[in-house]
Amino acid sequence: MKQKGLLMVISGPSGTGKGTLVKHLLKRNNKIQLSVSATTRKPRPGEVDGVNYFFLNKNEFEEKLTHGEFLEHAEVYGNYYGTPKAFVENQLNRGHNVLLEIDIVGAMQIRKKFKEAVFLFIIPPSLEELQRRIENRGTETPEQMTKRMDSALEEIRELEQYDYVILNDDIDKATGLIESIVKAELASVERSQHYWLDLFGVRR
Ligand code: ADP
Ligand code: 5GP
Repeated sequence: MKQKGLLMVISGPSGTGKGTLVKHLLKRNNKIQLSVSATTRKPRPGEVDGVNYFFLNKNEFEEKLTHGEFLEHAEVYGNYYGTPKAFVENQLNRGHNVLLEIDIVGAMQIRKKFKEAVFLFIIPPSLEELQRRIENRGTETPEQMTKRMDSALEEIRELEQYDYVILNDDIDKATGLIESIVKAELASVERSQHYWLDLFGVRR
């Protein structure tokens, strides 16, 4: 029997470095599959359809939603975002570890459907540093910037909904911590005992 893949959910305030950490994590680990979300947000410069997101218009998104094609969905900063259901389920059933980078509303929908998923919250070193990072990224208008800073505190308040907190002061350190958590979770008795008992032919 194959051990089912681990479903990991990463959330955190906009600009805290989720995308950067995910990129590092995937570069260092070929055993993690990133779920590419669908969104009605317009692509930022450099973003590629099917790589960063599946960019849809509102009608296309709503049609997929009606057909039950999303595992979860949420409206974030005025746009719709959703996780494609088929991809995630197929990968998990094949024993692959799957990573979702989604907001807290979506994360709580996943929590209800997948009790065994692991929830990671990425936190910035300070609010000042968070603001610097969003400004440096240079993708937000001043109005969007204010909206994201206001939301940051609201999101940090929800920290208790998560299993692990990852301080992103240094990218390599934060990536290393996520890798350690993945290893520990995969080795947990609760998650792996069926696999080992079957391997040794021990009756359950
Ligand atoms: P998010 O996906 O959470 O919105 P990004 O990954 O786009 O955030 O990162 C926002 C900005 O912060 C980017 O310019 C990125 O290069 C920078 N950044 C990310 N992590 C760090 C870090 N540990 N130290 C300094 N800058 C960082
Ligand atoms: P951005 O527009 O900056 O890429 O993402 C904005 C927010 O939407 C981030 O908090 C990100 O985690 C969240 N997000 C991205 N994809 C999804 C998704 O599929 N579902 C949900 N619920 N949130 C998402």
